[in-house]
Amino acid sequence: MRTFALAGNPNCGKTTLFNALTGSTAHVGNWPGVTVDKREGVYKGEREKVAIIDLPGIYSLSPYTPEEVISRNYILDEKPDGIINIVDATNLERNLYLTTQLLEMDVPVIIALNMMDEVEKVGDKIDVKALEKAVGVPVVAISALRKSGIKELMERAVAMPSERAGTAVFGGALKGKIERARQFFEGLGVASPLFHAVKMLEADEIELEHDGAKELLGEIAASADLEAEIADERYKYISAHFSSVKSKGKKDALTKSDRIDKVLTHRVFALPIFLVVLFFIFHLTFSENLFYLNGFTEGQAWMPTLEDAGLYNADGEPLNFGVELLAVIYDGTIYSPGVILTNLLNLFLDHISSGVVALMENGGAAEWSVGLVGDGVLGGIFAVLGFLPQILVLFLFFSILEDTGYMARIAFVLDRIFRRFGLSGRAFMPMIMGFGCSVPAAINTRTLADEKERTATIRVIPFFSCGAKLPILTAVAGGIVGAFGIGNADVITFSMYVLGICTAVVCVLIMRNTSLKGETPPFIMELPAYHMPGFKNLMLHLWDKTKHFVKKAFTIIFASTVIIWLLSHLSWNWHYLPDEEMNGSMLASMGMLIQPLFTPLGFGSQLGQFGWVFAVAAITGLIAKENVIATFTTLAICIGAYAGAGTEEGVEELVGLINIISADTGIAQGQLIAALIAFIAFNMTTIPCFAACATAKAELKPGTFRRTVAFWLITSYIVSCIVYTVGSWWWTLFVWLVVAACAGAAIVLANKGKLRLRARRK
Ligand code: GDP
Ligand code: MG
Repeated sequence: MRTFALAGNPNCGKTTLFNALTGSTAHVGNWPGVTVDKREGVYKGEREKVAIIDLPGIYSLSPYTPEEVISRNYILDEKPDGIINIVDATNLERNLYLTTQLLEMDVPVIIALNMMDEVEKVGDKIDVKALEKAVGVPVVAISALRKSGIKELMERAVAMPSERAGTAVFGGALKGKIERARQFFEGLGVASPLFHAVKMLEADEIELEHDGAKELLGEIAASADLEAEIADERYKYISAHFSSVKSKGKKDALTKSDRIDKVLTHRVFALPIFLVVLFFIFHLTFSENLFYLNGFTEGQAWMPTLEDAGLYNADGEPLNFGVELLAVIYDGTIYSPGVILTNLLNLFLDHISSGVVALMENGGAAEWSVGLVGDGVLGGIFAVLGFLPQILVLFLFFSILEDTGYMARIAFVLDRIFRRFGLSGRAFMPMIMGFGCSVPAAINTRTLADEKERTATIRVIPFFSCGAKLPILTAVAGGIVGAFGIGNADVITFSMYVLGICTAVVCVLIMRNTSLKGETPPFIMELPAYHMPGFKNLMLHLWDKTKHFVKKAFTIIFASTVIIWLLSHLSWNWHYLPDEEMNGSMLASMGMLIQPLFTPLGFGSQLGQFGWVFAVAAITGLIAKENVIATFTTLAICIGAYAGAGTEEGVEELVGLINIISADTGIAQGQLIAALIAFIAFNMTTIPCFAACATAKAELKPGTFRRTVAFWLITSYIVSCIVYTVGSWWWTLFVWLVVAACAGAAIVLANKGKLRLRARRK
């Protein structure tokens, strides 16, 4: 089977083409640097199958970034049978810069002129024939997104002769110098001597390792800086010979996108706009009160609930199925789309679990088995599954932001701010990915060239609350709203996300000024064009998420809920304990043992005899964060905490649990709310799940992982302690501010002291 490699600038549509060719569903993002590693697939053509390799996006073949090294080494060492060079036709000249370098290699090259749909849309024209003649290799116009021209591209690719000698675009004095170097590499017997020759004249580190190369460079180039000259020559050649193939249409698309950029990347307004956009997204996903019709509190309610309207019976149940369906959309307030979908799914799940339990009871199943299936397994799994719609809605919005090109603008905006904290805008992509899952996010940090910047980024990625932590946020926020009738779930959720981001920023700031000091490398990124997001791409994204989530629910979460249920219903001498005696179980006694550890955070001993549930839930979160809510639900049901308020799985049990704890301990409401929020904060900033830890360990420099775990533990402890104490006793804010000021001053003084020492030594 022959192998073709896809090479091109970041964001030129390589992955889109790769997916179109191989039928795979790799992540496509309107974002430079999404593909960090190479990826393989097979194109099943009419005559033969062809292996396709998707290389990371690069602007040049100089070894400055990991992507460039991966791509260059692949082409030189693995010797593909051909390169499909994808060129973004809307940005022809810049893309052809890489092309001129690829042409220097002894590999057959075919140019796929992508995004032709965009070019046509703005009315521009490209003379493909003329371009083909000018570059001397086949050129095919395609649109990877619309899947046009792809068949022709592959037909011409497989028809290419298997050998091709490299060609260069240089004339004049450079030509002679390059020829001398080329002969030198030919003498060494390496493949693609022309490519090596040009790179050596650019004083490329890799080439200078060849024996005798340094001496030769000294001889040819003397003191001149050929790198700049070569780059200059390439651009001159491109504009002289290739750019004439493009003629401008009447419509000017660039200015339109420029005008949008002026607003969205505005020095002052960019960040507030981003926060507003984010809040809007959270509102649509989590809000139980879409139009704020009743204000922020239930006290002001002027729209009647279904219960007030007399549509519920004496037991607080809807009169008929129609009312039940209505309650999915409206109950005193109109719910947001995310909540409506969640309610709908929960209605369905509710019917399933009560059906299963009824079936088992009628069939005469043993009491413990009904408990295990109903409370343990179904309670736990459904509590987690019930959050799927909200997770999907949130990710739909994030994907749209990414696909349209807005996220890239945010990276650009944040670079200005990040820089002050010692990170570059490059670190933003992994962080945003962290909102999805820490695992790919940690892998994506490979795009960060600086090792210390990378370590700092990997450490703070878990603070960007991932999809699996979302149920914790929503359920606890929902629990607070449900139990106390104050606040809004979307406001709480949004603030917790912001808390995570702030924690990350502060931690980076501290690390970059203490243990991980270093220069912040420059961040060069060109803003991708605005695109309409592709519907299919969005759906693929969501489908991937769904599969992953459901699979996890039925494997890890399933196993964990069974274990939790068993441990909570067995005593140390292996006797079955009914629900009422759960406090004598193995799980309860273990929970009670560690419970005092959490007292400074608000969810320890002060929560009384059932407080251990919090400790246990936090610990099970180390396996998978979904477990936190699964555990809560399973245990809350057994404790008998079933409030019947709301239709959401997980939330209603939590409301019940909160009510029981309040009644049991008589704790002040404000203090309990602070403790619950501290609990969310703890879970958001503590050690991430098992999979994320394993990835972080693999990606971090050896020896730093243990310190990283300690960092997570300490951070989560401090952050949730602050949340709890400030939430319970507001004046402690000043104590914390003084502590922070002292710590900051200590760091500044220590750094100054070191500087002075160094100065004195000099
Ligand atoms: P990569 O970074 O080179 O892998 O680029 P991607 O495949 O991730 O695509 C970058 C962006 O360009 C995505 O938003 C795609 O939807 C979009 N895109 C890719 N090919 C085309 C095309 O032929 N036409 C248009 N209009 N957009 C495209
Ligand atoms: Mg890609």
